[in-house]
Amino acid sequence: MALELFNTLSRQLELFKPLNLSEVGLYTCGPTVYNYPHIGNYRAYIFGDILKRYLIYRDYKIKHIMNITDVDDKTIRDSQIKNKNLKDFTEFYTESFFEDIKSLNIISADKYTKATSYIKEMIELVEILFDKGFAYKTKDGSIYFNIHKDSNYGKLSHFKISDLKKNASGRLLDDEYDKENAQDFALWKAWSKNDGDVFWEPERILKRKTVLIKGRPGWHIECSAMSMKELGQSFDIHTGGVDNIFPHHENEIAQSECATGKPFVKYFMHNEFLLVNGKKMSKSLGNFYTLRDLVKKGIDPIAFRFWLLTSHYRTKTNFTMEAVIGAQNALIRIRKTFLSLGDEIGKVEEKYKNQLIKYMDNDLGTPETLTVLWKLIKDTNISNQNKKATLLDFDKVLGLGLNQLKKEIIPLNIKQLVEEREEVRRNKDWNKSDKLRDQIKNLGYEIKDSSSSTKISKI
Ligand SMILES: [Zn+2]
Repeated sequence: MALELFNTLSRQLELFKPLNLSEVGLYTCGPTVYNYPHIGNYRAYIFGDILKRYLIYRDYKIKHIMNITDVDDKTIRDSQIKNKNLKDFTEFYTESFFEDIKSLNIISADKYTKATSYIKEMIELVEILFDKGFAYKTKDGSIYFNIHKDSNYGKLSHFKISDLKKNASGRLLDDEYDKENAQDFALWKAWSKNDGDVFWEPERILKRKTVLIKGRPGWHIECSAMSMKELGQSFDIHTGGVDNIFPHHENEIAQSECATGKPFVKYFMHNEFLLVNGKKMSKSLGNFYTLRDLVKKGIDPIAFRFWLLTSHYRTKTNFTMEAVIGAQNALIRIRKTFLSLGDEIGKVEEKYKNQLIKYMDNDLGTPETLTVLWKLIKDTNISNQNKKATLLDFDKVLGLGLNQLKKEIIPLNIKQLVEEREEVRRNKDWNKSDKLRDQIKNLGYEIKDSSSSTKISKI
């Protein structure tokens, strides 16, 4: 048995052979911290987590880096709208992101790299590209990458630069654009008054003369600089959502490979979109959810995680409240079964373990693995101790948090509703407090208030 992963570079399944057996380098494009991520963003982080858990399960040692984009067009724009300085504004959303991934039982990266902590590396990378002739300076002092100088440009998103030539004669200052608009993109953006107090002065940072003037990095150069600094010029796996393929990852490859002359990443892996009620999420369609919105509606984040695993990461999946509530009920059954198995932990049943490996080896087949999990739960021929050991073994990969379950589990969503109710009681909003009590009751929990405390129990 051998692990095969789908590589976006070749558009096919490839045997996983790390560059260096002692440590697998894994880079995940992290959040741009200008608001709460939507649930589609979390699909990418849960996919990355499953990949990482499975590699660990298969005895690979992993070095996992995730970036935090704390300077770009959007963070600058929205911090100014909110009248906050960039650091305070982005730190707030960085913290809320960490809370969310904890509630989804995502294993922390070995390091979260903030873009603003790697400005020197970005400047040096832009300098190299300029010196090698892959970049040029415009009148305002910005520096652009010349896509016509890179004969491999388009190798990830699979288009030929010759097909683009008629469109590709201009320049783009914005970080995001689609393939039809492929043009030279900004590596370093000269300061303009719209940037306010957000700028860096390269000559001060390098303590010498340089071609870069006062300004800020483009989005794409950030990930090239951070990933290569932490994982080396060539590393194993880079993950993200399919929306990252172009332009972000295409540009990362161009910048990195033109600067170093070495292959940047061996395996690029991308998860598909999450649709909501059959459509792409958008605020105007009213189908835009953050993880916090789901929790307010009574969904346990682990139920959302569990629901996502019922689809393969490379298929589009359609979120509906009914589907995720169904997954939550199924998860409750798994938890109940697990808790009914007693305290003793026996031996992992090899027959089940082998099936898990067979399906996960096939490009992380989580839907099939869950089918095996149900078979295991229903199997009356194995002892409780062995069933418990095998469920715990499966959970190393699936991350449903079974090892953290206590006899009386109060799900996170219930705890949050109780906290919310306590808050409204402090404000003497009895009407709202009663409504929350009813909502909690409908989810199967009862609240008993006394003068000093509030007790929650299952009905
Ligand atoms: Zn990135």
